[in-house]
Amino acid sequence: MSKAHRGKGIRELAAHGRGKCARCGKDAIKTLYEVEIDGAKAKICKYCNAAIKNEKKKAAAAPAAE
Ligand SMILES: [Zn+2]
Repeated sequence: MSKAHRGKGIRELAAHGRGKCARCGKDAIKTLYEVEIDGAKAKICKYCNAAIKNEKKKAAAAPAAE
């Protein structure tokens, strides 16, 4: 597996993968993760990627209806 989110892999991307994060709105940050937000594909930064992952984990771990 290559490093998809750093080094050579992102050199070919526009602006080296930097842009505005669709979730936190931070500018000039590396937006290397593509996720679906409300049915639309959005590019987000690694922090938001982690946050979304966490939310999903929490939702999955939480007991259903109580
Ligand atoms: Zn972000």
